[in-house]
Amino acid sequence: MIGFIKELIYRPLLNFIFPQICFGCEKLLLNDDEKICAECLNSLKKTNPQDLTIKIMKERFQNNGVLDNFYGLYYFENNGVLQKLLHQLKYENRKFIAEIFGDLIGNEIKENKLFEDNKLIIPIPLNKIKERERGYNQSLILAKRVSKILGINTLDNILFRKKYTKTQTQLNLQERKENIKDAFEVRNNELIKNQNIILVDDVITSGSTIEEAAKCLKNNGANKVISFSIAVAQLEDEIKSTKVEELEI
Ligand SMILES: [Zn+2]
Repeated sequence: MIGFIKELIYRPLLNFIFPQICFGCEKLLLNDDEKICAECLNSLKKTNPQDLTIKIMKERFQNNGVLDNFYGLYYFENNGVLQKLLHQLKYENRKFIAEIFGDLIGNEIKENKLFEDNKLIIPIPLNKIKERERGYNQSLILAKRVSKILGINTLDNILFRKKYTKTQTQLNLQERKENIKDAFEVRNNELIKNQNIILVDDVITSGSTIEEAAKCLKNNGANKVISFSIAVAQLEDEIKSTKVEELEI
């Protein structure tokens, strides 16, 4: 009965007094939508495992022997809804965006029975200065939501940034690799010995960050490492020509 009153009277009344708008398109939200409207979520371009970008990335990681698999939920599109949401997540203190996408990632893994032998989730860490500025690490928020859905632990006391890396947005692939080289360190490595790990990050562009993090985990005894992110940049030709477009996020 209380739920009934809440759905039928309280929420419409609340929406009437304080109209809620979608953080993607800024249109009024319908009663069932939370923060991001269904139309915006449905407009995001889901990845296709057969696509060239994904294939090139997988091949690159597997040939290097660092990442055993690589997944992203959506393609990153310049000037699209996803870019807008990710920008708000990173720079406008809208943590709930990571919670929404964390749930989507968790459900995707669960429904498709992906990596059922993975027993540990590790978020890509931010350096301490950036985390203090932002107030949170969006990858940790994502990881915790995925954890909750899959019922496996997230550990954020394993992987750390040991050097301050400059922002990667202006760098090409080779420069990104140099910039991120040896940027991570593992503490408490007994916790990852022979473990299969899901590394969680928000956006994969050149892949150099996730690659370096996976390398670090494997050098410290991890068995398998796969990665999962909200978005993957469509690089195609850029990857081949080692040029990475600047991403405004
Ligand atoms: Zn919308």
